[in-house]
Amino acid sequence: MSEFIPLLASSSPPKGSLRLLPEQMFLPDAYRLPTGVAKGPLSPISPRVVFIEVTNRCNLLCETCPRTFFDREPLKTLSCAEFVQIAEQFPEMRRVLLHGIGEPLLNKELPQIIKYLKGREVEVIINSNGTLLTPTWQAALVESGLDQYRCSIDGAKSETYARIRGANALPKLVEGLAGLVKTKARLQAETPRISIWCVATKENLAELPDLVRLAARLGVPELYLQRLVYFAREPEQQFGLARDDRTIFGPDHDYQEEIITTCEALSAELGLDFRASGARDPRHSLEAARPADFSPWQECMRPWTTAYVTANGNCLPCCISPFATSNYSSLILGNLFERPFAEIWTDYLYQKFRSKLLSPQPHQACSSCGVYWSL
Ligand code: SF4
Ligand code: SF4
Repeated sequence: MSEFIPLLASSSPPKGSLRLLPEQMFLPDAYRLPTGVAKGPLSPISPRVVFIEVTNRCNLLCETCPRTFFDREPLKTLSCAEFVQIAEQFPEMRRVLLHGIGEPLLNKELPQIIKYLKGREVEVIINSNGTLLTPTWQAALVESGLDQYRCSIDGAKSETYARIRGANALPKLVEGLAGLVKTKARLQAETPRISIWCVATKENLAELPDLVRLAARLGVPELYLQRLVYFAREPEQQFGLARDDRTIFGPDHDYQEEIITTCEALSAELGLDFRASGARDPRHSLEAARPADFSPWQECMRPWTTAYVTANGNCLPCCISPFATSNYSSLILGNLFERPFAEIWTDYLYQKFRSKLLSPQPHQACSSCGVYWSL
């Protein structure tokens, strides 16, 4: 079906969203539309940033992950041949993120996949829980040409980490990450760029300064703060630790300010970059709550410039949406093993999703973006 949906909004900011979001000033070029192009039901470009789940299997049961609580898609790990079949449908791809929901190191063909992408001169990034970083994986990742290895660590104390991530894996993770840093140095490699990513919540906020110290001790030069995404509109469906009473936006502002200031000073002293996801700075990253009459989702660029493909080939609008709604099937805009991506990208469901995103009543997953967490 290729029905064209009328434009609901033009590039002029709708009433109530006249302020420019700080996110818009930080976005890397690949996430933007060409200058002067208005957002409408269709995108004039093919995605340049693509998320592809190389597997949806995982060895952890994190208390903040929908994977722990819901069965959404059949378990699947992409073979290199299947991956290439997907990747070749994105001729303009400049940056690929080989993760979504799942641990990429559970895919044994990951080094082969990365080498294929490097042959296409694509920037390759993985987010990993770091618990499988054996010496064999350390060398394989460095030798594959991987550009960025982002390691999720949601606590500096073992008991906090275990409470959030569902397993007492911090010591093993720390050993593996230290090994990766040393392997990179031993092989005199310039890549991967290694960083630590922390989803900050009430559970672990007090440990952020210790996480800065841990990063410095390991020789990891960058630490990023992420915001907790949860089913904001459905309190009865909030699960595990992904619930509004665990978030750190709004209340306790003075305490957050104190922690951020401490981390900034520590990072400067220890020579670390302390940042936030979306390329924001950590202080502004926490300023997510915005006035009710403001429609920040209308500034989102993702369904026009990026694509997200699950391990089963399903196309979703972005990497945040699966964490933001229990209505998972409503996020599936087509399947790449059934139809070419170019057809899905221009078809009815994508047009409808984009048009709603430009309206005051977006998809339920989008309606919390920029309100309960930053875009
Ligand atoms: S958040 Fe990542 S590491 Fe944790 S269960 Fe989900 S996929 Fe696995
Ligand atoms: S959930 Fe919607 S508004 Fe938020 S990043 Fe995804 S597409 Fe954009």
